[in-house]
Amino acid sequence: MFKYAGVVINSESIQLDKIFTYVIPSEYIGKLHIGHRVKVPFGKGNKIIDGFVMELYEDILEHHKLKEISKVIDEKPMISQKDLELINFMKDKYLCSYIDAIKLVIAPGILEGKKHKTLEKLYINTEVVFQGKLYKEPYINIYKIIEDNNGSFTRSDLVNLYHISLSSINTLIKHGYIIKQDSVVQRYNVKQYTSYHKKSLTEDQEKVISHIINSNKSLFLIKGITGSGKTEVYMNLAEHAMNMDKSTIILVPEIALTPQMIERFKGRFGKDVAVFHSKLSDGERHDEWHRVKNNKVKLAIGARSAIFLPFTDLGFIIIDEEHESSYKSDSNPKYNAKEIAEYKSVLYNCKVILGSATPSIDTFYRSEKSEIELLRLNNRVDSAELPKLTIIDMRDELKNNNKSIFSAELYEAMKESLDKKEQIILFLNRRGFSTFVSCRKCGYVFKCDNCDISLTYHWSGNYLSCHYCGKTMKATNTCPSCKSNYVKHFGIGTEKVEAAIKRTFPEARVIRMDLDTTRKKNSYEDIYNSFKNQEADILVGTQMVAKGLDFHNVTLVGVLAADLSLNLPDYRSNEKTFQLITQVAGRAGRGRKKGRVIVQTYLPDNYSIKLAQKYDYDGFYREEIKIRKDMNYPPFSKILSITLSSKNEDLLIKNIQNLAINLRSLLLIDDKIEILGPTPCIISKINEFFRWQIIIKGQLTQSFNKNVKEMVYETLKEVYNDIRINIDINPNNLV
Ligand code: ADP
Ligand code: ZN
Ligand code: ZN
Repeated sequence: MFKYAGVVINSESIQLDKIFTYVIPSEYIGKLHIGHRVKVPFGKGNKIIDGFVMELYEDILEHHKLKEISKVIDEKPMISQKDLELINFMKDKYLCSYIDAIKLVIAPGILEGKKHKTLEKLYINTEVVFQGKLYKEPYINIYKIIEDNNGSFTRSDLVNLYHISLSSINTLIKHGYIIKQDSVVQRYNVKQYTSYHKKSLTEDQEKVISHIINSNKSLFLIKGITGSGKTEVYMNLAEHAMNMDKSTIILVPEIALTPQMIERFKGRFGKDVAVFHSKLSDGERHDEWHRVKNNKVKLAIGARSAIFLPFTDLGFIIIDEEHESSYKSDSNPKYNAKEIAEYKSVLYNCKVILGSATPSIDTFYRSEKSEIELLRLNNRVDSAELPKLTIIDMRDELKNNNKSIFSAELYEAMKESLDKKEQIILFLNRRGFSTFVSCRKCGYVFKCDNCDISLTYHWSGNYLSCHYCGKTMKATNTCPSCKSNYVKHFGIGTEKVEAAIKRTFPEARVIRMDLDTTRKKNSYEDIYNSFKNQEADILVGTQMVAKGLDFHNVTLVGVLAADLSLNLPDYRSNEKTFQLITQVAGRAGRGRKKGRVIVQTYLPDNYSIKLAQKYDYDGFYREEIKIRKDMNYPPFSKILSITLSSKNEDLLIKNIQNLAINLRSLLLIDDKIEILGPTPCIISKINEFFRWQIIIKGQLTQSFNKNVKEMVYETLKEVYNDIRINIDINPNNLV
């Protein structure tokens, strides 16, 4: 019999990130399980707070001063045994606290007790026969309506829809002919989708599917060129799982990608697809989570966090566009959904399928080492050709006195497509810091006082804003430094492209898709639908238009500034550039019409651009992996970044220097690990907080990382309140 429980307290404080022992009250002995949520007295004042049972003990060594659990909150445990293992895994791997990991496994909105929404629906009471003095109008009519729509209407529905008086309904209820009963309202999207029929598979698709199903391995990479029918493969795998009474999770990079995926999956599998992403309301998220928990659905599509949905019978976890950085979280716990998937494949004995046209270097490297099984889809469905890709050297355009953002060739191609009533996607690579404003005479650059980052010019509204803290100021032509009037906006934003199109092709209908235009809940879907329905000729967008979109009338894709992502201070800048160009090029020529792609750049000789032109992933991989090896970058090493930030710059510098000294002493024994820094971050100030960084690179083990974390917290323990600590392993970026 377990008489004691180890409980984790629901508190953010890192001092309380441990397991506390409590006595199980006699009435709960035998009924309390691991994963139960409980209320416990805590601290000197015995304040009652929530906690989670992580361990159970029959006996313990130290009985002194133990407190009792006050109450068990839910009937069933919130956390399963396997999720508990996942929580421990994350704590070790990502150096997070128990409670941070618990809050991931139980999705936001669930713990806060967003209740099921219920409404009182009207039903016929089948126990009694409707007769007697009420058997007359209007009661007969009301009774009939309810009988025909048993359980569908509330009282106010009847009042509104049929203009029936409330008191007549109440009379029927009072006499027991009608009963009202609570019924749970589902808040998930009940919109109808046009059905998407199962296709007869190509030979390549068949091969990939049967290979995955029959293999005894558990990790697969489908390297399939854009338009090779990967989504169809995913759908067939999900169906196969359903037939075996197993579930499937499909991860997509972000909300931006979901309309098309949801459309296809709902079109094929009906409403039995749970959808899970960050733009759901808490209520919707609550309902979708419970649909999974209560075994009502066998298939879920979602962004990163959907990896934690509480399926207990997983067959497949499918991760589409696996190279996308959004699978790695930037906030605590800084988990990587691909790593969680792999861990779950062991816990649940399920298979993980990664899919991409441009796999990440890390994943492809693992497939070369046979840790992941590589499967290829080398042809577009219907043997459609990949679009022809032309590289334009923008330096020549300037020599030819073309100062517009469109090269002569892109201009001609756009004109031709518009004439033929075909559609165009213009892609603006905005990962770089591109839209800064500066003085052409003295070189002054407008920057944010808070963040030390260049301000971005906004065409509509004529103002400058900081994309980190949101500070804005009015645009001006006069230089604050030399007082000349040579202030110029460098780089281009989507708004400027839109304006340029309107000047050049006044008749063309343009829509824009970027962070600004997709902030609202359904705005991405609206833009997507209106372009799909050919209500616009040209779609201008950032990274969002690079992914997944499948429009058959798009024959031209223009990449306006391919090299901006090459200027990023990041060892992955070539990889990102290659992926972006390939992905965005894949949006063209997906129907019967032939497509073409025009890529404008100032660096036409860069290998990532040259090899993207030839769609030569393998060639690119060979170049890139050599460099990674020479430089000892991932996958040959790991990178751990420690970023400290504070409003007090002196205090920050003093402490991070101390930390570096301590860390170096930790390292004396190991020459395979390098410590870089401390240095100010590339973005050296955000929102009045100064930022400094230490980077550790090499063969980092989990126990080494844990020692680093302990040392960081030990060194900084006097200044917790003044210095923020951020530790990230293999971070998405180092700015
Ligand atoms: P990917 O995800 O690899 O880029 P998609 O799954 O979007 O490719 O497929 C590209 C297009 O081909 C889609 O319009 C899809 O409906 C169609 N398609 C996929 N498989 C088949 C098939 N077996 N037969 C006919 N059309 C298919
Ligand atoms: Zn100036
Ligand atoms: Zn700012």
